[in-house]
Amino acid sequence: MKQNLHPKWNHQVKVTCGCGSVFTTGSQLDEITVDICSKCHPFFTGEMRFVDRQGRVDRFMQKMNVAQQKQAAQKAKKSGSTDDTVEETQPTGEQMSYKQLLQNEQTRLKTQTRKVEKAA
Ligand SMILES: [Zn+2]
Repeated sequence: MKQNLHPKWNHQVKVTCGCGSVFTTGSQLDEITVDICSKCHPFFTGEMRFVDRQGRVDRFMQKMNVAQQKQAAQKAKKSGSTDDTVEETQPTGEQMSYKQLLQNEQTRLKTQTRKVEKAA
């Protein structure tokens, strides 16, 4: 048989899971670390649990907190600027929606044509 053809096989390789469980298996590798195993996978445990080795859940929660704080600050700003009710009832050209702009333009044109008809 040809020499050095078959890869090295370890019969007792330690597998370490993120949940803390350790078991042995056969592999070419010397040591294996996994994020999830049959002891902690929801399919086998039947319960929902966060397996978080890289701190992804924590980072997500931090991001969400920052976003919520920003939103709250923006809301506070908005509510502060719209204290006078006149601004809300009569929006300026920039704040008007396209529908409002269109309606304003239509009424303006109607009044113009009426004036022209009266003059003629
Ligand atoms: Zn596990």
